[in-house]
Amino acid sequence: MQTLEIKIRGIVQGVGFRPFIHRLVREHALNGSIRNTSSGVTLNLEGEEEQLAAFLRELPEKAPPLAVIEEIHTEETPFQGFSCFQIIDSERQAERNTLISPDIGICPDCLREMSDPKDRRYRFPFINCTNCGPRFTIIEDVPYDRAKTSMKAFPMCPDCDREYHDIENRRYHAQPDCCPVCGPSLQYYDAAGLPAAGDVAALARAALTEGKIVAVKGLGGFHLACRCDDASIAERLRKRKQRDEKPFAVMCRDTETARVICHVSREEERILNGARKPIVLLKKKRQGMEHLSENGRIGVMLPYTPLHHLLFGDGLDMLIMTSANLSDTPIVKDNEAAVEALRGIADGFLMHNRRIQTRCDDSLCWVLDGHEYFARRSRGYVPQPVTVPEQKRQILACGAEQKASFCLGKGEHAFLSQHIGDLKNLETLEHYERQIRHFERLFDIHPQALVCDLHPDYLSTRYAQERAEEEGLPLLQVQHHHAHMAACMADNGLDGRCLGLVWDGTGLGTDGTSWGGELLAGDYQGFERLGSIRPIVLPGGDRAVKEPYRVAFSLLREAGCRTEGIRDAEQLARQTDAGLNCPLSTGMGRLFDGVSAILGIRERCSYEGQAAILLEAAAGEDEGAYPVILEDDGGILRFDWREMIRAIVKEKETGTDTAVSAARFMNTLIEAAALQLEAAAKETGLKRVVLSGGTFQNQVLMHRLPARLEACGLTVYHHRRVSCNDEGLSLGQLRIAAARGEMPLS
Ligand code: ZN
Ligand code: ZN
Ligand code: FE
Repeated sequence: MQTLEIKIRGIVQGVGFRPFIHRLVREHALNGSIRNTSSGVTLNLEGEEEQLAAFLRELPEKAPPLAVIEEIHTEETPFQGFSCFQIIDSERQAERNTLISPDIGICPDCLREMSDPKDRRYRFPFINCTNCGPRFTIIEDVPYDRAKTSMKAFPMCPDCDREYHDIENRRYHAQPDCCPVCGPSLQYYDAAGLPAAGDVAALARAALTEGKIVAVKGLGGFHLACRCDDASIAERLRKRKQRDEKPFAVMCRDTETARVICHVSREEERILNGARKPIVLLKKKRQGMEHLSENGRIGVMLPYTPLHHLLFGDGLDMLIMTSANLSDTPIVKDNEAAVEALRGIADGFLMHNRRIQTRCDDSLCWVLDGHEYFARRSRGYVPQPVTVPEQKRQILACGAEQKASFCLGKGEHAFLSQHIGDLKNLETLEHYERQIRHFERLFDIHPQALVCDLHPDYLSTRYAQERAEEEGLPLLQVQHHHAHMAACMADNGLDGRCLGLVWDGTGLGTDGTSWGGELLAGDYQGFERLGSIRPIVLPGGDRAVKEPYRVAFSLLREAGCRTEGIRDAEQLARQTDAGLNCPLSTGMGRLFDGVSAILGIRERCSYEGQAAILLEAAAGEDEGAYPVILEDDGGILRFDWREMIRAIVKEKETGTDTAVSAARFMNTLIEAAALQLEAAAKETGLKRVVLSGGTFQNQVLMHRLPARLEACGLTVYHHRRVSCNDEGLSLGQLRIAAARGEMPLS
């Protein structure tokens, strides 16, 4: 006989962990107890040595799908003579459960039940269990139980109550458990907001089949759905939603259906079918389908709520599913707001009476060379924390602005927010501020210090400054690209000094100019700038971001090439000569934009990053690069792009295929990075390099660059758990602030 104390750290509360342990303990004839702690659960178990060993072996293998076991610590303790197995009630504990599960897509067991005509939840749109269903989006407060979720409006019927209290049942302690007797109900409203009678899901399907646009209430907000096989319907949706060219996501009935339009690798299938159900960017199978996406990829997701499953059938197996919001405002989540805001856009509304407490957009990821990358880490992932080394203080990191996020640190956890959006919208800013308070309450965090970007005009900076002043808290302002670098270090659990290649559109540098093609060396404490690119003049400042032909003009002019072909060339020349609103930028995004315009791919952007995305999509397989010229500018090794621009112009004049030039352009950047990093490694002795910044959403770069750098003897790290774009930035800010000892009061 042996007695063990087993401490399990991770996400093991509210995920069906205790019933699982109960079963496993019984299988191995063990006795003892289990109780929740602030960081997980603690087990005291007694039994035969072999049985205990088997228990420990099976524990991580058989754990419920939502559980995340970070660490199992086992210690032998004196014999206690337990005679049974006991679950010690967590309510009596002083310390609060700190972790909350994300929303999880419907599980295979529930799907089977809802397809079974004999089951009492046959075709029930709110079926869920311990392993699946809404969590984060319905929780109002902690501790997590039904009374503190939007399910409180639906008292359990005796049948559900019995399941809830039966430890043998797969709905044991499933807070949102319900059935057709006691649960929420569906409604269908027409364009005028009048309710329709009948089989509600069938009404929605009929409307969709007829080509109508239907607003569908999901987990974290509304979607606008319509048929995706008809370009004219998609066109109507674009017009009504004022979404000119930005790609639409598609919901496919299953992976089989997704394969009709896209290639789906085994890894992509695993993620599509997994419990978190993000949108996965897949390669289009054939040309066409431009009405869905103008580049080579389509964002595809599978149905993740039982309601979504009811949308398919009667000949429908694929739908456009786009977030219901207007020009960058937050996604619509409330019924009344939906009818109001989507008037004239939606022809029908498929809604229900379970309130969405917290909005949460779909997550967006892709798979490249076997790795999963995020553009947006939101529904299905948030608020699951990223683990970091123990933090002495509780800190709020306020993020950037256009792709805002925040991050709260406590103990060994960093809680990143869901996708928030662009803070320049008043509604988005309010959403941001409310979510910060919501997270602080949920996770019982009282920030003792704040950290934000260096940019004085970011609304996240203003928020941090005001709050620091009001509450008398110290505030640290961190340079944008240093934060990116730190985010990637934290993402990979790195400490100490490294090199950081940070490429993005823009971020304020320590010299007051805009940066974005940077090579840094440093750690969480600080950094030096070792490399960059030759600064680019941006005639018109921010206008140049939306109108890449302005950047093309300035690249051509600096390179000594003819600018006659450029729109407004004369006026741009006058503006540049006068130096009127012509800031300098080393943003890699600008270089992409300018080259995209020179190659005739895109002169103006109707959504962020469009010119760069289309350039990537246009690139062929061609190997080869333009000459790389690096210039030492007082210790900063700058990539001088002028020779490259001249070569591109020459190719264009001689009729070289755009696909060849686009590929060579990216290969040239890879060569430039390799040369810069080789020099930096030699100078500093550092071998580890982290890649961060929004430019690394480019899959051509991410496919080729790491191999090229590893050939130079460098070890390359990329983002794995958070986005490389500004959404992941707050994690870096948090780690930098945590690494500082004392910070000055603001
Ligand atoms: Zn389930
Ligand atoms: Zn019920
Ligand atoms: Fe950035």
